[in-house]
Amino acid sequence: KRDDVDVEKLEQAVAELDLQNGSYKDFTDLPLSDPTKQGLKSSHFAVMTDVQAKAIPLALKGHDILAAAKTGSGKTLAFLIPMLENLYRLQHIGPDAGLGALVISPTRELAIQIFDVLCKLGRHGHMFAAGLIIGGKSLEAERQALSRMNILIATPGRLLQHLSQTVAFNMDDLKMLVLDEADRILDMGFQKDVDAIIEYLPKERQTMLFSATQSRKVKDLARLSLQDPEYISVHAED
Ligand code: ADP
Ligand code: MG
Repeated sequence: KRDDVDVEKLEQAVAELDLQNGSYKDFTDLPLSDPTKQGLKSSHFAVMTDVQAKAIPLALKGHDILAAAKTGSGKTLAFLIPMLENLYRLQHIGPDAGLGALVISPTRELAIQIFDVLCKLGRHGHMFAAGLIIGGKSLEAERQALSRMNILIATPGRLLQHLSQTVAFNMDDLKMLVLDEADRILDMGFQKDVDAIIEYLPKERQTMLFSATQSRKVKDLARLSLQDPEYISVHAED
């Protein structure tokens, strides 16, 4: 473990976050680790979008989140930042830590986009290992990478294939689940796969569900996967 003092300070600052009003406008207003701050700065992200300003403080504090915000509103960073930070503060990072976070995305293309944003965010001193589980490579090639990963970005079908076929792969240490573009996941017919994946996950975890639209099906999935969630809905232009 590295930097225990830094982690303790961050823990304290996160505990003191004010969740009442829109107190936080810029990423620099938040208690984030130095590597994340650097990653944001080098990508020239300064002012948070609406959904980010609402979701990140709550998620840093460990709340489950159900967020609806239209395409282009900045949902990717709204979940990647707290995901990375919460793993960092737990020091759930490195080759022996196991899988700490899982992001489920409806399509390969979206999964790759999330992975690219994560790599940019993480390239200034973060030590996590992240992998894509989206098919296209042999199962065996993906399988060998699985055991070393702290963060996975996955499409539902392929992930389920590994969960049911890869003996050494389990999610017992998972701290965080993100369901991105939940409406599309359901529209594409992945409901059963996602339900089955959730069965493999520890009950005690943080879950964030992001969607461009709210529908009956999204609400059903939320009921099944979230515990006492905070609701975030963004209508205005950012
Ligand atoms: P969504 O998932 O809601 O459709 P994305 O996360 O893909 O939105 O973000 C849309 C675009 O906005 C991306 O090009 C991203 O780089 C940019 N973006 C996200 N957050 C910010 C921000 N705080 N400041 C400036 N640009 C941002
Ligand atoms: Mg998105």
